[in-house]
Amino acid sequence: MSKLFGGIEAGGTKFVCAVGSGPDDIRAELRFPTTTPDEVINQAVAFFQEQAAVYGAVAALGIASFGPVDPNPHSATYGFITSTPKPGWAQVDLAGEIGRRLRVPVGFDTDVNGAALGEWRWGAAQGLDTFIYLTIGTGIGGGVIANNKLIHGLLHPEMGHIRLPHDRQADPYAGHCPYHGDCFEGLACGPAMGDRWQQPAESLPGDHPAWELEAHYLALALQSFICTLSPQRIILGGGVMSQPQLFPMVRRKVQELLNHYVQHPAILTDIDSYIVPPGLGNRAGVLGAIALGQQKLAEQP
Ligand code: ADP
Ligand code: ZN
Repeated sequence: MSKLFGGIEAGGTKFVCAVGSGPDDIRAELRFPTTTPDEVINQAVAFFQEQAAVYGAVAALGIASFGPVDPNPHSATYGFITSTPKPGWAQVDLAGEIGRRLRVPVGFDTDVNGAALGEWRWGAAQGLDTFIYLTIGTGIGGGVIANNKLIHGLLHPEMGHIRLPHDRQADPYAGHCPYHGDCFEGLACGPAMGDRWQQPAESLPGDHPAWELEAHYLALALQSFICTLSPQRIILGGGVMSQPQLFPMVRRKVQELLNHYVQHPAILTDIDSYIVPPGLGNRAGVLGAIALGQQKLAEQP
């Protein structure tokens, strides 16, 4: 029998907790809104204690969290949510508190690094050694596996906050990012679309010019990521990407922007399988968290 793991997808809006060993083996799942750290940690701990009484203790737990976070195991604030503007959530020791109370090893990383790990293991990135997972939702974030390892570096990538060319005549919207205004996230996250067009992104009709502009910003960012990281595939998830018309527009614009410079069939002819939705759909987050737990156990001495 395969070992059981716990996974927590810690989002800014909701938490998803699950016990299982992979996409075909999720024993139990619980979702609840992201209220206060105390309340949320109590709910998560209670859930895993209840499940342990039924299935036995999990071998390890993974937490894929909204951020910014400290994912460096050698740092004093490892496992913390650090400088988030979300009220009450700055400097919260999420992984430490949950790990101490449940007495299990905890793997901890950004939500998007977690999702990348899940897609690598079970989804659209199986067999690759270098790829990107991006979420376009309430915010924009990117997780990267390069040469078969998640990238952390100083802290972790912040791919949503790169600067993009912004033609203020074509798009006078000032941007939504509290730090940078019109960075990539500021121009292209779901709330930015809602603000710019004065209606929620999900209510914009499929033929609205909003999607052409959104595809333009996504393609500009992807062009930069392709040129800096040379990913073998780019996975685009998050609420905004549930608009299927975006994919063909983004692919065509990426080809135009690269202008035949990156000479590889993945981009020149096979772009439909190069820029893709998550293979795990909207379960990439929680399955990624389980994958982080599995990785943690594998790293234990
Ligand atoms: P989160 O980023 O909080 O985890 P989501 O990935 O669902 O959650 O992103 C939420 C954002 O995505 C909101 O700004 C919302 O307007 C937008 N969104 C959700 N569903 C859709 C949809 N079907 N089409 C376009 N935008 C959507
Ligand atoms: Zn920003």
